[in-house]
Amino acid sequence: MLVDVRTQTREELALQFEAWGLPTYRLDQLLSWLYIHRVVAWDEMKNLPRDLREKLQATYHLRPLQLARLQGARDTTQKFLWKLHDNSLVESVLIPANPALYGEASDRHTLCVSTQVGCAYGCKFCASGLDGWKRNLHPDEIVEQVLAVERWHARQPAGATEDPTLPGAAARPRAAARSPGLPAASAPATSGPPPSPGERPTAGTDTRRVNNLVIMGMGEPLANYANLLQALRILNAPWGGGIGARKITISTSGLVPQIRKLAEEPLQFRLALSLHGATDETRNKIMPVNRKYPLYDLIGACEYYVQRKGHMITLEYILISGVNDAVREVHPLAALARRLHAKINLIPYNRVEGLAWDRPTEATQEAFRAALEAEQVPVTLRREKGHDIDAACGQLRLKTERELAFPGHRC
Ligand code: SAH
Ligand code: SF4
Repeated sequence: MLVDVRTQTREELALQFEAWGLPTYRLDQLLSWLYIHRVVAWDEMKNLPRDLREKLQATYHLRPLQLARLQGARDTTQKFLWKLHDNSLVESVLIPANPALYGEASDRHTLCVSTQVGCAYGCKFCASGLDGWKRNLHPDEIVEQVLAVERWHARQPAGATEDPTLPGAAARPRAAARSPGLPAASAPATSGPPPSPGERPTAGTDTRRVNNLVIMGMGEPLANYANLLQALRILNAPWGGGIGARKITISTSGLVPQIRKLAEEPLQFRLALSLHGATDETRNKIMPVNRKYPLYDLIGACEYYVQRKGHMITLEYILISGVNDAVREVHPLAALARRLHAKINLIPYNRVEGLAWDRPTEATQEAFRAALEAEQVPVTLRREKGHDIDAACGQLRLKTERELAFPGHRC
């Protein structure tokens, strides 16, 4: 069975090129077509000899994600719903930079990517787990979420601000749709050769739209460990996505053995722990994973991660009305944060159709934040971007699948 060429690292492809007796610059040309120009057709790789293109085509897939639905206007939070080759749906969310959230300050965008179709972990408040788990994403399907968003943006007319919605925006002809300064992601044949071997665009000519990644879309990333790590190696590599490891944040509901394994990886990814409760009692109510990996084990694994990596982790805490927003939760939460030298991200709950949970009032949110500050813990209260477009993970997919299953029904 063929694999997509974007499941392969440079080293893996180099072995294949060596077996074909090809010089290294041919590989650099291929990588530049894949990760700088982001083409998704072998025929567009004009400077590769025809017989090499045929060999590549016979050896690897090169399959784009299909845009099934898009919500949100440019320069606000945009949510992309992708159709995979087996018709499964996954989401990516592009969020304008918010320096206070993850990683360092940024003048560009954060992309939230999915790692699984559905989720097996069944947190009670989350849309992604509602219909269970279907499958893991392959490395190329994770990598392609970044490339496809950047390709989509590169094809938009400069200055376009309209709200693109299904299906016209995705299908609209883009003959003159190249932003100034962008290399031809969609039409390399008419716009000159790609950079010479080994060359990457530098700041100013760089076409990157995404410079922060959060692995917080649908699915539990650490349950798809090998594929995730392979995708992140490719997205991080200078010959690939070129996104710094410190600008990649992996969020987990708390898979203890994988957190310990991640601590051993050479790359310095950031870790966010979806805590949502500072006692086993609260966590058990909303996160079934806590019965397998209770707080004692989980905090031990996080301490190990912090000690190995030497940088801060983030504790995610969704505020859910009447569940975990009482002031009595503050003290144990502050104690955990202090023990881990962690900062806390408070996130007002995003309502999910069909679930009874709700976000607390702004006054309650503020009181919770103030009580944490009084305990001297670094805390941010996220002013949710994209609340109005079902930005929390899994919601657009769920809505779309329900609309497809029950045409005419709008939940
Ligand atoms: N499975 C991983 C990553 C995906 S979920 C994890 O659980 O960390 C990403 C984040 O979205 C998690 O912190 C999750 O708890 C949060 N989330 C899920 N549903 C939400 C909702 N309805 N409102 C706000 N945050 C939500
Ligand atoms: Fe899965 Fe994360 Fe949603 Fe829990 S919060 S069901 S682990 S995606």
